[in-house]
Amino acid sequence: MKTVILSFDVDGERAFGAREKLTRDRFLETGIPAVVDYLGRQGLDATFFVVGRNILDFPELHAKLRPFEIGNHTHSHLHFLTSRTRAEKQVEVGEAHRIIKEFYGSDPVMFRAPDYQIDEELFRMVMDMGYAGDSSLIRVLLPPRFFFNYLKQRKLAKEPREFPLTSCVIPFNGTSIISLGLRYAEAVLERVSRSRDVLVLNFHPRDFTHAKIEAFGYLRRDKAVETTTRFLDSLRGKFRILSFRQFFELSRQDSDFSGGVGRERSVQREVRT
Ligand SMILES: [Zn+2]
Repeated sequence: MKTVILSFDVDGERAFGAREKLTRDRFLETGIPAVVDYLGRQGLDATFFVVGRNILDFPELHAKLRPFEIGNHTHSHLHFLTSRTRAEKQVEVGEAHRIIKEFYGSDPVMFRAPDYQIDEELFRMVMDMGYAGDSSLIRVLLPPRFFFNYLKQRKLAKEPREFPLTSCVIPFNGTSIISLGLRYAEAVLERVSRSRDVLVLNFHPRDFTHAKIEAFGYLRRDKAVETTTRFLDSLRGKFRILSFRQFFELSRQDSDFSGGVGRERSVQREVRT
């Protein structure tokens, strides 16, 4: 059975332009409990890439994620992180790591950059901190605002010597396909599931909410919750659905475990935990 790694970027409203300190966050306060409830009912683990500052601002909501794997999604979800200084990048990665470790009690081993913007400096920084992998590069059928970013980054994925591809686990943006409706989402899934690579799906808690904010004008958000749950339901039985940590654990236990894909063994070699 082919493997799908399920992941969520726990972006709040601030990631969409709300600058001031928020006293509430509609994406998180409705999205997190809904995701947690869904995964609990299905008996699934998933990897939640959380924002360090959001843990401090909304600790009760983030405590709900304790049963699941936690990844690093930087401290304050700065946009254009690749154009910041090395020191700024270090703060973003290091602060989030420290807060996550303190709050959840263990070190995160997966990283995902805001807006899928990673460069070599940031990538090496994360690897030097002992992370098992990065999941920041994004694949196929991007929303337009990610397209130029993707062109810039594509060379990173093509130069394994300079940039060890074996440490990159490339997500497929579930949120954008959900925005286009269930039929489209399933057609896309059918296409990408023929790929030899690990299939990583990347959603957001807002896919489990109908909350709307002005800066966020995606298509068909009124149907997001139904589309997301029906889409995830359709994976059951067809795919083995895992978090990154479950995937790594299976790879460690069973050297024959390949999930029907080519890259998993390479990923396995990179795991340092
Ligand atoms: Zn994000």
